[in-house]
Amino acid sequence: MNHPHYHNTYVDTRGFVDEPLTFTQAIVRGIAPGGGLFVPKVLPRFALDDLLALASKPYAVRAAEVFKAFGVDLPSETIDACMEGAYSTNFDAPEITPIKQLDSETFVLELFHGPTLAFKDLALQCMPRFFSAAIDTLRAQDAPEAREDFLILVATSGDTGKAALEGFANRAHTSIIVYYPFGGVSDLQQAQMLTTLGSNVSVCGLRGNFDDCQTAVKQVFGDEAFKEDLATTQGLRFSSANSINWGRLLPQVVYYVSAYAQMVASGAVQAGEPIDVCVPTGNFGNILAAWYAAEAGVPIEQLFCASNTNRVLTDFINTGVYDIRERSFVATPSPSMDILVSSNLERLLFELNGRNPEQIQAWMQELNSEKRFVADKQTFAALRERFSADWVSVEDSLATIREVYETYDYLLDPHTAVAYKVAERLRGANPVLVVATAHWCKFGADVYKGLTGIKAGDALPQELADLGGFALNRYLSEHFEHAGAVPERMAELEGMEHRFGEVCDADYAAIKESILLSLPLIVDRSEL
Ligand SMILES: *Cc1c(COP(=O)(O)O)cnc(C)c1O
Repeated sequence: MNHPHYHNTYVDTRGFVDEPLTFTQAIVRGIAPGGGLFVPKVLPRFALDDLLALASKPYAVRAAEVFKAFGVDLPSETIDACMEGAYSTNFDAPEITPIKQLDSETFVLELFHGPTLAFKDLALQCMPRFFSAAIDTLRAQDAPEAREDFLILVATSGDTGKAALEGFANRAHTSIIVYYPFGGVSDLQQAQMLTTLGSNVSVCGLRGNFDDCQTAVKQVFGDEAFKEDLATTQGLRFSSANSINWGRLLPQVVYYVSAYAQMVASGAVQAGEPIDVCVPTGNFGNILAAWYAAEAGVPIEQLFCASNTNRVLTDFINTGVYDIRERSFVATPSPSMDILVSSNLERLLFELNGRNPEQIQAWMQELNSEKRFVADKQTFAALRERFSADWVSVEDSLATIREVYETYDYLLDPHTAVAYKVAERLRGANPVLVVATAHWCKFGADVYKGLTGIKAGDALPQELADLGGFALNRYLSEHFEHAGAVPERMAELEGMEHRFGEVCDADYAAIKESILLSLPLIVDRSEL
């Protein structure tokens, strides 16, 4: 690659950080004081030949090259080693992110071959390795942000929790506790979490819904006295693993860079020919990574933002007005896209408004107080150059699963189905890459409803409802020829021991107590 391995610096979107930060500081800090998000000061630019040359290298090498081009203050060998660990046999496809062709102009980027069968693995197999390496580096410099070890707290509605557990399991200097709404996740999602191996992980159910979990965990993050106590008595500092960390975003840029190289190598597109990308969107991390890839020289022309009924982003991209006053949260078959405030949008606005932190501050303040803000004319025009958006109803998303299965012998999960339908509506002359974010087996009940035309709100036939998630997946795999086998890593959980049975109230005092009880079990004291 033409880019020397240089050390970029990182700035924050609200302009509260004066000193230039390194990559390792940005990932360990996570979020900037004042609530801003970190972005690289300088964006790299890949020449077409450099992009195409990546095709002949393993995915881990492509990932290392992209990281080095973005500027990471770690030794080259450390970056290489982190990537070799992140992207190898822990994925059940040697390509890591294989591309399936549906027709001459439609391709599916499969991001569900990692340990938890959802796209968050691409970031969460990688980021924790860099997090540990960053702590080592910062300690060697005696930097203040890494004196303590880290306790990662995660509130999850299902998918993120398991991906974070797998990513942080047995990682140096970190322990992780995941809170999920007890009874509020599917039996398979629960089994995925409760069977996680590792000496530094714990999982706790909370009596309440996801909102209650999130609120309680946020209260813990905000308790200065508890934080102080944990730092002095346990040598621990809190951190979160959520998608606003730049360390989670950069690994997602990699698969877009890689995908283009793969498509040229397979003859799907000519070198330099533009493609459009369609992404099922929730917190705006995945599609933002595609935007960074385009900025870095990948010939991606249009970005299609696909929403479900919770369509605040689609409305924003179509009107320039972000408005959550009248919206209530709707539960859909694509739960990972059920979101009202998309945190990563802030990064895009910063990039498109000429990197004006004062304007970002003003918009975010308005969003907080008025539940609404309006993008200015120039920023909106810049947004419209690259982005278009549409949303898909619950009924249409399930019908799409059947339509694609019957037309192409290919089974989509409900999130990817939303993206497929939006791509069909918005596509122009370019080939389209539809981003597939989960394996169907994570959402077997809704996939069955889609395939057989049962309405989303109606129950499964009793004999199928009685099966439970594992047996329903086997049924689907046996009765729908093109569904393929249930991935081993899902099927094998059925016989595994559930290691974590704790359930407590979704209130702050109960969580605090559960943290203190868990610590002796999950914090490595060998270095003390
Ligand atoms: C998290 C998730 C999404 C949404 O991705 P964002 O980066 O938050 O936009 C879509 N689909 C699945 C299956 C997910 O787990």
